[in-house]
Amino acid sequence: MEKYLVSARKYRPSTFATVVGQKALTATLRNAVATDRLANSYLFCGSRGVGKTSCARIFAKAINCSNRTPEGEPCNECESCRAFNAGTSMNIVELDAASNNGVDDIRKLVEQVQVPPSMGRYRVFIVDEVHMLSAAAFNAFLKTLEEPPSYVVFILATTEKHKIIPTILSRCQIYDFHRITIRDMIDQLAYVAKQEGVAYETEALNVIARKADGAMRDALSIFDQVAASSGMNITYESAIENLNVLDNGYYNRLLDCFLSGDVLQSWLIYKEIRDKGFDSQFFINGLAAYFRDLMVASDSSTLQLVEASDAVRQSLAQRALKCTPQFLYRAMSLCNDADLNYRVSSNKQFLVELTLAKLCQPLSPSAENDSAGEGQSLQPITAAAPVQPAAPVANQASSAVSRSGSASAVPVQPLQSTSVPAPAAVHSVDAGMSGASARRTEPQRNISGIPRISIRCGPAAETSGTTSAAATAAQSRSERFSHEALNTAWTTYISTHPKAQILVNTMRASYPIEIRENNFTVEVQNQKQLEILDANKADILEKLHNALSNDFVNFNVRINANRDPRHTLRESELLEIMKRESPALTHLIQELNLRL
Ligand SMILES: [Zn+2]
Repeated sequence: MEKYLVSARKYRPSTFATVVGQKALTATLRNAVATDRLANSYLFCGSRGVGKTSCARIFAKAINCSNRTPEGEPCNECESCRAFNAGTSMNIVELDAASNNGVDDIRKLVEQVQVPPSMGRYRVFIVDEVHMLSAAAFNAFLKTLEEPPSYVVFILATTEKHKIIPTILSRCQIYDFHRITIRDMIDQLAYVAKQEGVAYETEALNVIARKADGAMRDALSIFDQVAASSGMNITYESAIENLNVLDNGYYNRLLDCFLSGDVLQSWLIYKEIRDKGFDSQFFINGLAAYFRDLMVASDSSTLQLVEASDAVRQSLAQRALKCTPQFLYRAMSLCNDADLNYRVSSNKQFLVELTLAKLCQPLSPSAENDSAGEGQSLQPITAAAPVQPAAPVANQASSAVSRSGSASAVPVQPLQSTSVPAPAAVHSVDAGMSGASARRTEPQRNISGIPRISIRCGPAAETSGTTSAAATAAQSRSERFSHEALNTAWTTYISTHPKAQILVNTMRASYPIEIRENNFTVEVQNQKQLEILDANKADILEKLHNALSNDFVNFNVRINANRDPRHTLRESELLEIMKRESPALTHLIQELNLRL
């Protein structure tokens, strides 16, 4: 009876051509062999299972082969090749530095280096995980590495190139092995399956390849395991069951819940997943990865970033069409938050359920990551419908525009964009302002179609828009007020915004004039001042409305270049600015103990 060999050994490549996923690198090695231009030492770098040791063995076999092909491949038939394949060749010495990392181990190796080959031309020394050598061992090795006998070739292999000291790096020819792509793995697995007479579904091989995470050896081991337990018929179901992989179907169903705002259904699906024995953090991370894949699948130029078979890519691309980039950004962010908070949460199930509930709220104002556009409205949550199905995300932009004037909708504090300093108050009475805010309700897109993420900044971000919004929605206040009260409110605004230097100076130089009923005028000297006041108008008005209990207070700004220029900075403020601009001044003031 033929002895059973695991696939990882049975299908270990025996020629450069059969090495999976390292075409360019093996071509270079083949050329070196074919032209007999060999270096003394090579360094093979790359993560585990990508073929470093396999390539080193093929290389050793090829340079000793007495009958190698013109392309530099070993014949696998000559006496030397057969000895190599049987593992009996004396011309190859392997040292695993992970377990033999001391000076003595290296001394033994160095002793062996002195022995010339009995058959063939070269002796090849493979030192695996060379970064594990102790400092003393490294030093003992350096001399030999620098001037080895002519019949010796060193092949050092490492998974952690950055740990290799420069003196070693500079003595080696360096080859960087790539991670093996999912596609290459699937092809190889399919080949092995055919050779072994195992039936398979490509989707199942995709699951195995993903699980192997770039390591061909792992992929073949997993393949053996699944093939054995599924009776030589690898189906998608048998693969995910065996490998404890969460079926993408769950994520797809959850996505439908998120898009339709079905919180309760999403919780039920989460329960199913828990019942199957999946860890909640594993689930959240899987969900995050799913959103990430949807994100890159949404554009044909980034589709290649999805590590999956073509069929899976296409299905993701189809689903991505349903999601706006804003939704995906926020979804990834929420999953990330949940992952970060997971360890410290005392009720992990609740944390995940809360995250799912948030994901079902496409218009959530949970603001810090909400890039979902500006001027959007939050759906009212009524007692009759505790779980309000939200509008599909794709329709948000248009529905937000149509709802922005509705009294039933509570306007959400708009996000301020860096390039649009004006507070985008949806409830502004100023015709110019509402025009501007209406324009801003459209998602801002750059040329690549991905919306810019807005950043909160500017004075309006410090204030709560909901106060005046609620006031507008409830009942407008219209108290009468005196000129002194208006001046006091104006001064209060100035004193509570010490950092908004230009604005404060402008306001200090231009107190309200021509006060008639609820309207007054502000005179400024130039266009710049007019713009800064306009830009902050909504915020100023909001404060004035509250201070004066009158929601109809309004002002207009006009330029009067002939206005009496007034001193706009207090001396202390002037000094502060000067100190900020020349730090040496602060030093001088301290040194001389000066006082204003
Ligand atoms: Zn041969």
